[in-house]
Formats: sequence, structure tokens, C-alpha cells
Amino acid sequence: MLADKDRIFTNLYGFQDWNLPAAKKRGDWDGTKGLIEKGHDWLVDEMKTSGLRGRGGAGFPTGLKWSFMPKESDGRPSYLVVNADEGEPGTCKDREIMRHDPHKLIEGCLIAGYAMRAVAAYIYIRGEFVHEANVLEAAIQEAYDDGLIGKNACGTGYDFDVYVHRGAGAYICGEETALIESIEGKKGQPRLKPPFPANVGVFGCPTTVNNVESIAVVPTILRRGGGWFAGIGRENNTGTKLFCISGHVERPCTVEEEMGIPLKELIERHCGGVRGGWDNLLAVIPGGSSVPVLPKEICDDVLMDFDSLRNVQSGLGTAAVIVMDKSTDIVKAIARLSAFYKHESCGQCTPCREGTGWMWRVMERLVTGQAELAEIDMLLDVTKQIEGHTICALGDAAAWPIQGLMRHFRPEVERRIKEYKSQAA
Ligand code: SF4
Repeated sequence: MLADKDRIFTNLYGFQDWNLPAAKKRGDWDGTKGLIEKGHDWLVDEMKTSGLRGRGGAGFPTGLKWSFMPKESDGRPSYLVVNADEGEPGTCKDREIMRHDPHKLIEGCLIAGYAMRAVAAYIYIRGEFVHEANVLEAAIQEAYDDGLIGKNACGTGYDFDVYVHRGAGAYICGEETALIESIEGKKGQPRLKPPFPANVGVFGCPTTVNNVESIAVVPTILRRGGGWFAGIGRENNTGTKLFCISGHVERPCTVEEEMGIPLKELIERHCGGVRGGWDNLLAVIPGGSSVPVLPKEICDDVLMDFDSLRNVQSGLGTAAVIVMDKSTDIVKAIARLSAFYKHESCGQCTPCREGTGWMWRVMERLVTGQAELAEIDMLLDVTKQIEGHTICALGDAAAWPIQGLMRHFRPEVERRIKEYKSQAA
């Protein structure tokens, strides 16, 4: 369990004001100038020492990502882009940061931006987050007025601007290159990589895209030291993490915990347990809708970190924990996700555009059992044809929940088909 002294987001629930005076009382913007004066390389190295892995879902080491940015300018400015699109079903952690602790994010932008030699940060926020965008704009203005960002930010001689860019409601704009296209005013469609954003990002310039949580934890990590962060959690899965727990629990919540906390402890300690007790649990999607579902037998012991969840063929993703008790129609739940991905596919590559619709139609029939048994393997085969064969990870995200369903709940799918056939006979 995470000790109170190690908590980074001390205003996660908004019990205190988000504004600059209150943020400063909580320790934000303390010694920022001194941190920046330690230099680009120290900042990047300290982030590498912390072991922080990207909190948006992919889990790529943050310090390493920053180190891909060019050290010498070729005449093009560099940019930091913060991914605040947070459209993954079940995920509501970045929203809490922007609502209640926006100065952690703004200070993080400045320090991360300096570390990677960027001239500005664009915070790309999903369009539905109207209140959060307003809070962020107001907090940014406070930081400008106080000389913390803008010309000679924090008295360091470094000029750094922060802009808020609002999205227009497309899930795919949470994908980093679609997000970049959207900032540039184009239709939000993922780009083929390479070139990677560190070479050709926003406006054709070197760019790093980081998740809100990844950037908001930066000031605290650097103030307390990379070694402090690395001492929390487990090897290769370090630090604190925001988990959003929803579904059939007594008290859904977003909570900061130690990486690697057992899933059962997370739910029982912070959410009052599963509705009807732990034995009433059917399944959990542990990391937002894009990762495979896990049955109760695995949930009994699994730890909540990147490697532990990968070892059970799922993933930490955005750490959005969707809990389903035994009242859940699990086939219908996964079919609903198939509908979501079909709707959100940008349509530019064939396996995803055609495959998501095809999978959804089959899934809809599997809900009622109006299918042939052979279609289960055919459906799995189609998921394999999509997985890894598309421009962006939305194709994988559409395939994996179905694979997870068949891995753990195939007998239930088969039962429906047999039952429908016997009733029709
Ligand atoms: Fe678009 Fe889907 Fe291809 Fe991604 S995988 S680029 S969402 S069609």
C-alpha cells in the first residue's frame, strides 16, 4: 500500500483549491528554477533513473523517450505535446489531474520541455472536457502572470509557452500521430511510422508526445529524486500510479497507489469490494477497454503492473479497471466494445476498417447464439489478421478483447450457440 508521504497527487479529489496559491502551498513550483539549472542531461538522466514508464498505456520509458529528441538544432524548433485526449473507456485519471491539480501538469510541461529543448508545449485536451479546459486555461494564465512560464520562465532565461488545444470528440485523436495531425488542423488520422515524432512531429518539427500523468509526476520525481520513485513499486514497474476503478464495485473511484498492488487489494481497500463480495466477481478488464478481459481465477492473484498483466496475456493500459460481477452478460459486454471500435476506426487501413465491422457483426450474433460453432475460430482468425497489420494500435485494441473473451469464456459462447440451435430445432 502506498504511504501517504509518497503520494504525488495530494489534491486528487479537489478538497483544496486548484489555484496557484493553493498549489504552491502543496509544494508545486518549489525550486523549479534550481531544477532547470541542473541542465538538460541531468533532467533526462534522473527520469531514466526513476524508471517512469509512460502512463498513457504503452508503458515506454519516459526518460528514454525524451533522449530521442535532437540535442543540436537544425533550425527547426522542438515541441512537447501533452496527450490529454483521455478517450479510453473506463479512464478518468487525467481528468482529475487537470481539474484539481493543473499546476503539476504546467510545471511538468516547463521542466520536461526544457529537458528536451522544446520551445512550447501543446496540451491536446478532449473536446468533452470543457470544465477541465477552462481550469487549465486559467491555471496557465496564473503561471504566465507569475512569471513561471513565458519569457524568462522562472527567471531561468529560458522562454517557454504553453497552449491548450481542444479536440473535437474523436477517440482516434488519442493516438499520438492522429493527435499531431489534429493539432495541425487536419483530419485526425494516424500517420505511418517512421518517421517518428521525435524526428518529424507537429508542424514537421521534433516532437515528444507524453500523457498527462507522465508529465504531471515529473516535478515531484525530480524534487525527490529518481531513486525515490524507483524505490516504490516493483522492478521495471516503478512508482505510484493512478487507477480508475469502475463497474460493479461498491464505491467506484480514482486512486493513487503503488505500482504492482494486487488487483484484489486495490478493489477491496479503495472501492469497498465487489458488489455482493469477491466471490460474486466474474471478470475484470484491468487497463481500459483495449486490453483483454481476465476471469476471476486470474484476478484472485494478479498484480497491477505492466509486466504482471502482460504475463497473464492482458495489460496495464491506462489502468482503468472495469469490474464485472456475475450479473454481467460477458459476451454482450465485449460485443459492445466491438461496436465502439467499429465506430471509432478512422477507416484508412483495410484490416481495421473492414475487420472491426465484420467482428462486430459476428459478435452481435454470438450474443444471441445465432451463429455456427465454426465461426468462433473464424472470428479468432480474423482478429489475428487484424492484430499487428494496421497503421495504428486501434486494430489491436479491437482484436484483443475478443481474443480475451474466447480464451477465458469460450464455453459460454459455445453454450449460447448450442442452446439457440436446440431451441430452433
Ligand atoms: Fe485508422 Fe484503424 Fe488503421 Fe488506426 S488501425 S489507422 S484507426 S483504420
